[in-house]
Amino acid sequence: MIFRKTIFTGLIALALLACVSVSQAQQSQGPGAKPATVMPDVVQVPAAAQPSEHFDADAATNAYLAEIPASARSRSDAYFEGGYWLILWDFLYGAALYLFLLHFGWSAAMRNVAERVTRFKPLQTLIYWSEFLIVTTILGAPVGLYEGYFRERQYGLATQTFLPWLGDQLIMLLVNLVLGGIVAVVLFGVVRRLPRTWWIWGAGVSIVFLVFFVMIAPVFIFPLLNKYAVLEDPRITQPILSLARANGIPAQKVYQVDASRQTTRMSANVSGYGQTMRITLNDNLLRRGSPEEIQSIMGHEMGHYVLHHIARDLLYFSVVIVIFFALLRWSLARALVYWGERWQMRGIGDTAVLPLVFLLGSLFGFLYTPFFNTHIRTNEHEADMYGLNASRQPDGFAQAAIHLGEYRKMNPGPVEESIFFDHPSGRNRIHDAMRWKAENLQLFIPKPNR
Ligand SMILES: [Zn+2]
Repeated sequence: MIFRKTIFTGLIALALLACVSVSQAQQSQGPGAKPATVMPDVVQVPAAAQPSEHFDADAATNAYLAEIPASARSRSDAYFEGGYWLILWDFLYGAALYLFLLHFGWSAAMRNVAERVTRFKPLQTLIYWSEFLIVTTILGAPVGLYEGYFRERQYGLATQTFLPWLGDQLIMLLVNLVLGGIVAVVLFGVVRRLPRTWWIWGAGVSIVFLVFFVMIAPVFIFPLLNKYAVLEDPRITQPILSLARANGIPAQKVYQVDASRQTTRMSANVSGYGQTMRITLNDNLLRRGSPEEIQSIMGHEMGHYVLHHIARDLLYFSVVIVIFFALLRWSLARALVYWGERWQMRGIGDTAVLPLVFLLGSLFGFLYTPFFNTHIRTNEHEADMYGLNASRQPDGFAQAAIHLGEYRKMNPGPVEESIFFDHPSGRNRIHDAMRWKAENLQLFIPKPNR
Protein backbone atom coordinates (compact mmCIF):
# COMPACT_ATOMS: atom_id res chain seq x y z
CA MET A 1 0.00 0.00 0.00
CA ILE A 2 3.05 2.18 0.23
CA PHE A 3 3.40 2.72 -3.47
CA ARG A 4 0.15 4.59 -3.87
CA LYS A 5 1.56 7.95 -3.00
CA THR A 6 -1.01 10.13 -4.65
CA ILE A 7 -1.64 13.39 -2.94
CA PHE A 8 -5.14 12.28 -2.06
CA THR A 9 -4.18 8.99 -0.49
CA GLY A 10 -1.16 10.80 0.85
CA LEU A 11 -3.40 13.18 2.69
CA ILE A 12 -5.58 10.35 3.93
CA ALA A 13 -2.44 8.54 5.04
CA LEU A 14 -1.34 11.73 6.73
CA ALA A 15 -4.65 11.79 8.55
CA LEU A 16 -4.33 8.15 9.47
CA LEU A 17 -0.85 8.68 10.74
CA ALA A 18 -1.92 12.00 12.21
CA CYS A 19 1.33 12.32 13.89
CA VAL A 20 4.35 14.49 13.79
CA SER A 21 7.10 12.11 14.55
CA VAL A 22 10.46 13.27 15.69
CA SER A 23 12.98 10.69 16.05
CA GLN A 24 13.15 7.30 14.58
CA ALA A 25 16.17 5.17 14.77
CA GLN A 26 17.21 1.62 14.69
CA GLN A 27 17.72 -0.45 17.75
CA SER A 28 20.44 -2.99 18.19
CA GLN A 29 19.25 -6.55 17.87
CA GLY A 30 19.03 -7.86 21.39
CA PRO A 31 21.72 -7.89 24.03
CA GLY A 32 25.34 -8.71 23.42
CA ALA A 33 27.56 -7.62 20.57
CA LYS A 34 26.31 -4.67 18.59
CA PRO A 35 26.75 -4.85 14.82
CA ALA A 36 29.16 -2.23 13.51
CA THR A 37 26.46 -0.77 11.27
CA VAL A 38 24.38 0.46 14.22
CA MET A 39 24.88 3.90 15.75
CA PRO A 40 26.38 4.11 19.24
CA ASP A 41 23.69 4.06 21.96
CA VAL A 42 25.33 6.26 24.52
CA VAL A 43 27.36 8.88 22.77
CA GLN A 44 30.05 10.32 24.97
CA VAL A 45 30.04 14.09 24.84
CA PRO A 46 33.20 14.56 22.76
CA ALA A 47 36.03 16.75 24.05
CA ALA A 48 35.31 19.45 21.50
CA ALA A 49 31.67 19.60 22.69
CA GLN A 50 32.56 19.96 26.39
CA PRO A 51 31.81 23.42 27.77
CA SER A 52 34.91 25.58 27.70
CA GLU A 53 36.05 29.07 26.84
CA HIS A 54 37.04 27.97 23.34
CA PHE A 55 33.76 26.16 22.64
CA ASP A 56 33.08 26.26 18.91
CA ALA A 57 29.78 25.00 17.46
CA ASP A 58 31.34 23.82 14.19
CA ALA A 59 34.11 21.93 15.93
CA ALA A 60 31.63 20.39 18.38
CA THR A 61 29.38 19.31 15.49
CA ASN A 62 32.28 17.68 13.66
CA ALA A 63 33.37 15.93 16.84
CA TYR A 64 29.90 14.42 17.25
CA LEU A 65 29.82 13.35 13.60
CA ALA A 66 33.22 11.70 14.05
CA GLU A 67 31.71 9.34 16.63
CA ILE A 68 29.67 7.62 13.93
CA PRO A 69 31.28 4.43 12.61
CA ALA A 70 31.92 4.60 8.85
CA SER A 71 30.01 1.36 8.27
CA ALA A 72 26.92 2.73 10.03
CA ARG A 73 27.04 5.88 7.98
CA SER A 74 27.41 4.10 4.65
CA ARG A 75 24.50 1.80 5.42
CA SER A 76 22.28 4.72 6.41
CA ASP A 77 23.27 6.62 3.26
CA ALA A 78 22.42 3.58 1.13
CA TYR A 79 19.03 3.13 2.81
CA PHE A 80 18.09 6.78 2.55
CA GLU A 81 19.38 7.39 -0.99
CA GLY A 82 17.55 4.26 -2.13
CA GLY A 83 14.42 6.03 -0.95
CA TYR A 84 14.99 8.81 -3.52
CA TRP A 85 14.68 6.28 -6.32
CA LEU A 86 11.69 4.63 -4.70
CA ILE A 87 9.78 7.92 -5.02
CA LEU A 88 10.31 7.69 -8.78
CA TRP A 89 9.68 3.94 -9.11
CA ASP A 90 6.55 4.17 -6.94
CA PHE A 91 5.20 6.87 -9.17
CA LEU A 92 6.03 5.06 -12.42
CA TYR A 93 4.75 1.70 -11.18
CA GLY A 94 1.51 3.24 -9.92
CA ALA A 95 1.00 5.20 -13.14
CA ALA A 96 1.55 2.06 -15.25
CA LEU A 97 -0.89 0.16 -13.06
CA TYR A 98 -3.65 2.76 -13.40
CA LEU A 99 -3.09 3.02 -17.16
CA PHE A 100 -3.30 -0.77 -17.37
CA LEU A 101 -6.69 -0.77 -15.59
CA LEU A 102 -7.97 1.93 -17.94
CA HIS A 103 -6.48 0.77 -21.23
CA PHE A 104 -7.42 -2.92 -20.94
CA GLY A 105 -10.97 -2.17 -19.83
CA TRP A 106 -10.57 -3.56 -16.30
CA SER A 107 -11.94 -0.39 -14.75
CA ALA A 108 -15.03 -0.42 -16.99
CA ALA A 109 -15.50 -4.14 -16.29
CA MET A 110 -15.36 -3.55 -12.52
CA ARG A 111 -17.97 -0.82 -12.93
CA ASN A 112 -20.19 -3.17 -14.97
CA VAL A 113 -19.97 -5.81 -12.23
CA ALA A 114 -21.08 -3.24 -9.63
CA GLU A 115 -24.00 -2.21 -11.84
CA ARG A 116 -25.14 -5.80 -12.30
CA VAL A 117 -25.19 -6.35 -8.52
CA THR A 118 -27.37 -3.34 -7.65
CA ARG A 119 -29.14 -0.34 -9.14
CA PHE A 120 -28.48 1.71 -6.00
CA LYS A 121 -25.73 4.19 -6.91
CA PRO A 122 -23.98 4.53 -3.52
CA LEU A 123 -23.75 0.74 -3.25
CA GLN A 124 -22.33 0.58 -6.78
CA THR A 125 -19.63 3.00 -5.72
CA LEU A 126 -18.84 0.93 -2.64
CA ILE A 127 -18.59 -2.28 -4.69
CA TYR A 128 -16.38 -0.59 -7.29
CA TRP A 129 -14.16 0.78 -4.51
CA SER A 130 -13.73 -2.69 -3.03
CA GLU A 131 -12.83 -4.18 -6.42
CA PHE A 132 -10.43 -1.34 -7.16
CA LEU A 133 -8.70 -1.57 -3.80
CA ILE A 134 -8.27 -5.35 -3.95
CA VAL A 135 -7.05 -5.36 -7.57
CA THR A 136 -4.54 -2.51 -7.01
CA THR A 137 -3.32 -4.13 -3.80
CA ILE A 138 -2.68 -7.44 -5.59
CA LEU A 139 -1.08 -5.84 -8.66
CA GLY A 140 0.92 -3.52 -6.43
CA ALA A 141 2.06 -6.34 -4.15
CA PRO A 142 5.58 -6.67 -5.63
CA VAL A 143 6.33 -3.06 -4.76
CA GLY A 144 4.48 -3.19 -1.43
CA LEU A 145 6.31 -6.37 -0.38
CA TYR A 146 9.72 -5.06 -1.37
CA GLU A 147 9.35 -1.67 0.29
CA GLY A 148 7.30 -2.64 3.29
CA TYR A 149 8.82 -5.99 4.14
CA PHE A 150 12.00 -7.19 2.38
CA ARG A 151 13.80 -3.85 2.25
CA GLU A 152 13.04 -3.07 5.90
CA ARG A 153 14.38 -6.49 6.89
CA GLN A 154 17.43 -6.11 4.69
CA TYR A 155 18.38 -2.96 6.61
CA GLY A 156 17.53 -4.46 9.99
CA LEU A 157 14.65 -2.06 10.64
CA ALA A 158 11.85 -4.65 10.81
CA THR A 159 11.07 -6.93 13.73
CA GLN A 160 8.13 -8.86 12.26
CA THR A 161 8.14 -12.15 10.45
CA PHE A 162 6.07 -12.43 7.31
CA LEU A 163 2.70 -13.57 8.64
CA PRO A 164 2.29 -10.91 11.37
CA TRP A 165 3.38 -8.31 8.82
CA LEU A 166 0.79 -9.59 6.37
CA GLY A 167 -1.81 -9.50 9.15
CA ASP A 168 -1.10 -5.81 9.72
CA GLN A 169 -1.44 -5.14 5.99
CA LEU A 170 -4.83 -6.89 5.95
CA ILE A 171 -6.05 -4.80 8.89
CA MET A 172 -5.03 -1.61 7.08
CA LEU A 173 -6.67 -2.88 3.90
CA LEU A 174 -9.94 -3.33 5.82
CA VAL A 175 -9.64 0.17 7.30
CA ASN A 176 -9.05 1.51 3.80
CA LEU A 177 -12.01 -0.49 2.52
CA VAL A 178 -14.36 1.03 5.10
CA LEU A 179 -13.05 4.60 5.46
CA GLY A 180 -11.99 4.95 1.81
CA GLY A 181 -15.34 3.47 0.82
CA ILE A 182 -17.22 6.11 2.81
CA VAL A 183 -15.11 8.87 1.23
CA ALA A 184 -15.65 7.45 -2.28
CA VAL A 185 -19.44 7.14 -1.81
CA VAL A 186 -19.75 10.71 -0.53
CA LEU A 187 -17.42 12.22 -3.17
CA PHE A 188 -19.12 10.46 -6.08
CA GLY A 189 -22.48 11.53 -4.62
CA VAL A 190 -21.28 15.14 -4.66
CA VAL A 191 -19.98 14.85 -8.23
CA ARG A 192 -23.27 13.36 -9.51
CA ARG A 193 -25.47 15.93 -7.78
CA LEU A 194 -23.33 19.00 -8.46
CA PRO A 195 -21.74 18.36 -11.88
CA ARG A 196 -20.58 21.98 -12.30
CA THR A 197 -19.35 22.93 -8.84
CA TRP A 198 -18.37 19.44 -7.56
CA TRP A 199 -14.70 20.36 -7.20
CA ILE A 200 -15.40 23.06 -4.58
CA TRP A 201 -17.80 20.87 -2.60
CA GLY A 202 -15.58 17.83 -3.09
CA ALA A 203 -12.64 19.74 -1.64
CA GLY A 204 -14.82 20.86 1.28
CA VAL A 205 -15.98 17.31 1.99
CA SER A 206 -12.37 16.03 1.79
CA ILE A 207 -11.24 18.63 4.31
CA VAL A 208 -14.02 17.62 6.70
CA PHE A 209 -12.95 13.97 6.36
CA LEU A 210 -9.31 14.91 6.94
CA VAL A 211 -10.12 16.73 10.19
CA PHE A 212 -12.37 13.83 11.27
CA PHE A 213 -9.65 11.22 10.59
CA VAL A 214 -7.00 13.20 12.43
CA MET A 215 -9.34 13.35 15.42
CA ILE A 216 -10.38 9.69 15.54
CA ALA A 217 -7.08 8.10 14.45
CA PRO A 218 -5.34 7.98 17.88
CA VAL A 219 -8.40 6.45 19.52
CA PHE A 220 -9.89 4.17 16.85
CA ILE A 221 -7.27 3.44 14.18
CA PHE A 222 -3.76 3.29 15.66
CA PRO A 223 -4.84 0.82 18.39
CA LEU A 224 -5.82 -1.66 15.66
CA LEU A 225 -2.13 -2.36 15.05
CA ASN A 226 -0.47 -1.52 18.36
CA LYS A 227 -1.14 -1.47 22.07
CA TYR A 228 -1.31 1.98 23.61
CA ALA A 229 -1.05 2.35 27.37
CA VAL A 230 -0.63 5.13 29.87
CA LEU A 231 3.01 5.31 30.86
CA GLU A 232 3.22 4.60 34.60
CA ASP A 233 6.92 4.75 35.51
CA PRO A 234 7.27 8.01 37.51
CA ARG A 235 11.02 8.15 36.84
CA ILE A 236 10.14 8.78 33.21
CA THR A 237 6.79 10.57 33.55
CA GLN A 238 7.78 13.05 36.29
CA PRO A 239 10.38 14.98 34.26
CA ILE A 240 8.11 14.91 31.20
CA LEU A 241 5.03 16.16 33.08
CA SER A 242 7.15 18.79 34.80
CA LEU A 243 8.39 19.96 31.40
CA ALA A 244 4.76 19.99 30.20
CA ARG A 245 3.57 22.08 33.16
CA ALA A 246 6.44 24.52 32.69
CA ASN A 247 5.34 24.98 29.09
CA GLY A 248 1.64 25.44 29.84
CA ILE A 249 0.61 22.07 28.42
CA PRO A 250 -2.37 20.58 30.29
CA ALA A 251 -1.13 16.99 30.02
CA GLN A 252 -1.93 14.58 32.84
CA LYS A 253 -0.71 11.48 31.07
CA VAL A 254 1.97 10.34 28.70
CA TYR A 255 1.26 7.35 26.46
CA GLN A 256 3.51 4.54 25.32
CA VAL A 257 3.12 2.30 22.32
CA ASP A 258 4.64 -1.11 21.58
CA ALA A 259 6.21 -0.05 18.28
CA SER A 260 8.83 -2.78 18.72
CA ARG A 261 6.12 -5.13 17.44
CA GLN A 262 6.89 -3.88 13.91
CA THR A 263 10.09 -1.91 13.94
CA THR A 264 13.38 -1.22 15.68
CA ARG A 265 13.04 2.54 15.13
CA MET A 266 12.73 4.89 18.04
CA SER A 267 9.98 7.43 17.81
CA ALA A 268 7.67 9.74 19.65
CA ASN A 269 4.80 11.77 18.32
CA VAL A 270 2.01 14.18 18.96
CA SER A 271 -1.25 12.95 17.47
CA GLY A 272 -4.93 13.76 17.35
CA TYR A 273 -6.76 17.01 17.65
CA GLY A 274 -8.81 18.60 20.41
CA GLN A 275 -9.85 16.01 22.97
CA THR A 276 -7.82 13.25 21.33
CA MET A 277 -4.52 15.14 21.23
CA ARG A 278 -1.74 13.31 23.05
CA ILE A 279 1.99 12.75 23.31
CA THR A 280 3.20 9.18 22.80
CA LEU A 281 6.63 7.64 23.25
CA ASN A 282 7.43 4.31 21.71
CA ASP A 283 9.00 1.46 23.64
CA ASN A 284 12.20 1.48 21.55
CA LEU A 285 12.84 5.03 22.71
CA LEU A 286 12.05 4.11 26.32
CA ARG A 287 14.45 1.18 26.22
CA ARG A 288 17.28 2.70 24.30
CA GLY A 289 17.16 6.46 24.83
CA SER A 290 19.19 8.15 27.55
CA PRO A 291 17.19 10.34 30.00
CA GLU A 292 18.70 13.47 28.39
CA GLU A 293 17.75 12.19 24.95
CA ILE A 294 14.18 11.41 26.00
CA GLN A 295 13.84 14.89 27.52
CA SER A 296 15.17 16.57 24.38
CA ILE A 297 12.70 14.58 22.27
CA MET A 298 9.81 15.43 24.58
CA GLY A 299 10.79 19.09 24.30
CA HIS A 300 10.56 18.73 20.52
CA GLU A 301 7.12 17.06 20.72
CA MET A 302 5.88 19.77 23.06
CA GLY A 303 7.06 22.25 20.44
CA HIS A 304 4.66 20.66 17.94
CA TYR A 305 1.92 20.94 20.54
CA VAL A 306 2.54 24.51 21.68
CA LEU A 307 3.10 25.77 18.13
CA HIS A 308 -0.23 24.19 17.02
CA HIS A 309 1.42 22.30 14.20
CA ILE A 310 -1.46 19.86 13.71
CA ALA A 311 -4.09 22.62 13.48
CA ARG A 312 -1.81 24.67 11.24
CA ASP A 313 -1.13 21.66 9.00
CA LEU A 314 -4.86 21.03 8.68
CA LEU A 315 -5.28 24.59 7.47
CA TYR A 316 -2.31 24.33 5.12
CA PHE A 317 -3.41 21.00 3.63
CA SER A 318 -6.94 22.38 3.22
CA VAL A 319 -5.48 24.90 0.78
CA VAL A 320 -3.51 22.13 -0.95
CA ILE A 321 -6.69 20.04 -1.27
CA VAL A 322 -8.58 22.94 -2.89
CA ILE A 323 -5.72 23.46 -5.37
CA PHE A 324 -5.65 19.74 -6.10
CA PHE A 325 -9.40 19.61 -6.77
CA ALA A 326 -9.18 22.64 -9.08
CA LEU A 327 -6.39 20.93 -11.05
CA LEU A 328 -8.36 17.68 -11.01
CA ARG A 329 -11.44 19.31 -12.51
CA TRP A 330 -9.38 20.90 -15.26
CA SER A 331 -7.32 17.82 -16.13
CA LEU A 332 -10.20 15.32 -15.83
CA ALA A 333 -12.32 17.31 -18.25
CA ARG A 334 -9.53 17.26 -20.83
CA ALA A 335 -8.62 13.63 -20.30
CA LEU A 336 -12.26 12.62 -20.73
CA VAL A 337 -12.41 14.39 -24.09
CA TYR A 338 -9.34 12.49 -25.36
CA TRP A 339 -9.77 9.06 -23.80
CA GLY A 340 -13.31 8.94 -22.40
CA GLU A 341 -14.71 6.78 -25.18
CA ARG A 342 -11.69 4.52 -25.58
CA TRP A 343 -11.63 3.76 -21.84
CA GLN A 344 -15.46 3.45 -21.66
CA MET A 345 -15.80 6.26 -19.11
CA ARG A 346 -19.23 7.93 -19.27
CA GLY A 347 -18.26 11.06 -17.36
CA ILE A 348 -16.86 12.32 -14.10
CA GLY A 349 -19.74 10.76 -12.14
CA ASP A 350 -18.83 7.29 -13.44
CA THR A 351 -16.81 5.24 -10.92
CA ALA A 352 -14.76 3.86 -13.83
CA VAL A 353 -12.80 7.17 -13.84
CA LEU A 354 -11.22 6.35 -10.48
CA PRO A 355 -7.90 5.00 -11.88
CA LEU A 356 -7.63 8.22 -13.90
CA VAL A 357 -8.23 10.25 -10.72
CA PHE A 358 -5.49 8.27 -8.96
CA LEU A 359 -3.19 8.66 -11.98
CA LEU A 360 -3.59 12.45 -11.95
CA GLY A 361 -3.34 12.47 -8.15
CA SER A 362 -0.09 10.51 -8.20
CA LEU A 363 1.37 12.90 -10.78
CA PHE A 364 0.39 15.84 -8.57
CA GLY A 365 1.82 14.08 -5.51
CA PHE A 366 5.06 13.26 -7.31
CA LEU A 367 5.64 16.85 -8.42
CA TYR A 368 4.54 18.12 -5.01
CA THR A 369 7.06 15.99 -3.07
CA PRO A 370 9.75 18.68 -2.56
CA PHE A 371 7.16 21.20 -1.38
CA PHE A 372 5.59 18.67 0.96
CA ASN A 373 8.98 17.77 2.44
CA THR A 374 9.97 21.40 2.84
CA HIS A 375 6.71 22.22 4.61
CA ILE A 376 7.10 19.34 7.07
CA ARG A 377 10.83 19.97 7.54
CA THR A 378 10.15 23.61 8.40
CA ASN A 379 7.72 22.51 11.14
CA GLU A 380 10.27 20.02 12.41
CA HIS A 381 12.94 22.69 12.58
CA GLU A 382 10.61 24.93 14.59
CA ALA A 383 9.94 22.06 16.98
CA ASP A 384 13.69 21.43 17.24
CA MET A 385 14.30 25.04 18.28
CA TYR A 386 11.43 24.94 20.77
CA GLY A 387 12.66 21.63 22.15
CA LEU A 388 16.19 22.91 22.74
CA ASN A 389 14.88 25.93 24.61
CA ALA A 390 12.40 23.91 26.64
CA SER A 391 14.52 20.86 27.52
CA ARG A 392 17.97 22.52 27.63
CA GLN A 393 19.47 19.23 26.51
CA PRO A 394 21.65 20.00 23.49
CA ASP A 395 23.80 16.89 24.03
CA GLY A 396 20.71 14.72 24.44
CA PHE A 397 19.45 16.14 21.18
CA ALA A 398 22.77 15.43 19.46
CA GLN A 399 22.46 11.82 20.65
CA ALA A 400 18.92 11.66 19.23
CA ALA A 401 20.17 13.04 15.89
CA ILE A 402 22.82 10.33 15.79
CA HIS A 403 20.25 7.62 16.50
CA LEU A 404 18.20 9.04 13.65
CA GLY A 405 21.22 8.80 11.43
CA GLU A 406 20.79 5.05 11.36
CA TYR A 407 18.21 5.43 8.63
CA ARG A 408 18.39 9.07 7.56
CA LYS A 409 21.45 10.37 5.75
CA MET A 410 23.48 12.43 8.23
CA ASN A 411 25.24 14.87 5.97
CA PRO A 412 23.44 15.66 2.68
CA GLY A 413 24.05 18.60 0.38
CA PRO A 414 21.73 21.60 0.79
CA VAL A 415 19.72 20.97 -2.41
CA GLU A 416 19.40 17.28 -1.57
CA GLU A 417 18.13 18.19 1.91
CA SER A 418 15.57 20.67 0.60
CA ILE A 419 14.12 18.16 -1.89
CA PHE A 420 14.19 14.85 -0.04
CA PHE A 421 14.29 15.54 3.71
CA ASP A 422 11.08 15.78 5.74
CA HIS A 423 13.14 16.39 8.88
CA PRO A 424 16.34 18.41 9.18
CA SER A 425 19.43 16.28 8.52
CA GLY A 426 21.38 14.92 11.48
CA ARG A 427 24.25 17.25 10.80
CA ASN A 428 22.03 20.33 10.88
CA ARG A 429 20.27 19.13 14.02
CA ILE A 430 23.56 18.59 15.83
CA HIS A 431 24.77 21.97 14.62
CA ASP A 432 21.60 23.66 15.87
CA ALA A 433 22.09 21.98 19.24
CA MET A 434 25.75 22.99 19.47
CA ARG A 435 24.98 26.56 18.45
CA TRP A 436 22.36 26.64 21.21
CA LYS A 437 24.92 25.25 23.64
CA ALA A 438 27.49 27.86 22.57
CA GLU A 439 25.01 30.63 23.42
CA ASN A 440 24.07 29.03 26.75
CA LEU A 441 27.45 27.84 28.00
CA GLN A 442 26.80 29.29 31.48
CA LEU A 443 24.24 26.48 32.01
CA PHE A 444 26.93 23.85 31.60
CA ILE A 445 29.93 25.35 33.38
CA PRO A 446 29.92 24.36 37.05
CA LYS A 447 29.58 27.43 39.27
CA PRO A 448 32.43 28.01 41.74
CA ASN A 449 31.43 27.71 45.42
CA ARG A 450 30.66 31.01 47.03
ZN1 LIG B 1 8.69 16.41 15.02
